[in-house]
Amino acid sequence: MTTHTTRMLIIGSGPAGYSAAIYGARAGMQPIVVQGIQPGGQLTITTDVENYPGFADVIQGPWLMEQMQKQAEHVGTRMMWDTIVEVDLANGSPFRAVGDSGDEYIGDVLVIATGAQAKWLGVPGEQELGGKGVSACATCDGFFYRGKKVAVIGGGNTAVEEALYLTNHSDDVTLIHRRDTLRSEKILQDRLFASEKITPLWNKTVSRFVKGENGKLHHLELRDTVTGELSTLEVDGAFVAIGHAPATELFKGKLPTDESGYLIVEPGTPKTNIPGVFACGDVMDHTYRQAVTAAGTGCMAALDAERFLATLEHARHEAVAAE
Ligand SMILES: Cc1cc2nc3c(=O)[nH]c(=O)nc-3n(C[C@H](O)[C@H](O)[C@H](O)COP(=O)(O)OP(=O)(O)OC[C@H]3O[C@@H](n4cnc5c(N)ncnc54)[C@H](O)[C@@H]3O)c2cc1C
Repeated sequence: MTTHTTRMLIIGSGPAGYSAAIYGARAGMQPIVVQGIQPGGQLTITTDVENYPGFADVIQGPWLMEQMQKQAEHVGTRMMWDTIVEVDLANGSPFRAVGDSGDEYIGDVLVIATGAQAKWLGVPGEQELGGKGVSACATCDGFFYRGKKVAVIGGGNTAVEEALYLTNHSDDVTLIHRRDTLRSEKILQDRLFASEKITPLWNKTVSRFVKGENGKLHHLELRDTVTGELSTLEVDGAFVAIGHAPATELFKGKLPTDESGYLIVEPGTPKTNIPGVFACGDVMDHTYRQAVTAAGTGCMAALDAERFLATLEHARHEAVAAE
């Protein structure tokens, strides 16, 4: 077992973690990033990224994350290929974490950037056609289906918001829900039912995503939840919108979360209720969930971490002077 000590310990290597590392390293905090089981985060499982500022041409998600990692390393970040399995926040700074490898990590500040994962239906064809017609993010991929036929699967706020968003690009949006009423807020339902571009399809689940000869999504196989009858729906794109699961298992009982499991921070900041512990990116943001917002809150976490350390070091200095 090795103990790694740093002024700034970052858990997670998506856009939030890498951005916190870039700012933290440039501020002299010699960050350590513990990368987790998905180095680079969610963007490593997508293809085209067209909305990250700074690139006139379409770029690839894995390439973007490789660049962020290199940039963070270039300015002095240490990357650890490990997954944190335990954290100890009870005694304040310095914070202790233990990796799957058995290694121990000690950080004067802790930045949590563990992200979230979209929930999937888990039916045949779904993973295979990811990025080839099947997506979990209309804001990210809706633009690729301009003028095409799309479907959204789900019945909560996310699904209705995704369907409404897609009407900016498509005149033919089908909302597929397994019940005959929606769970979303009334105001969203009113907007959905007022839209001539959205057709709700009740009491249906997707039992299979089926590819065409071009290797992309061709149609959905649907099952009626009342009669069990099978039918098909031809679409160019399908958006699974049944929610996200933030990676907060580690922090249960240690940091406050909302009813969906997202870490709660002081509004407008990445500060948790423990001084010196910051949360950034999708793990604390169930609203925007974009690479650029994750990077933005990662930057905020590093700037606040720097201020916290300056105050902490000043207090330690005063205490020594007073002895
Ligand atoms: C298919 C797809 C396409 C997308 N397309 C776009 C797009 O085009 N544009 C856009 O802006 N956004 C897009 N998004 C959303 C974007 O990817 C996320 O908003 C962004 O990645 C969130 O960044 P994050 O740093 O908060 O977390 P994530 O990217 O989720 O990264 C979380 C990190 O935490 C690590 N981790 C988790 N638990 C632990 C642990 N216990 N120990 C150590 N590490 C841990 C993981 O390994 C991972 O590295 C897309 C998402 C998906 C799924």
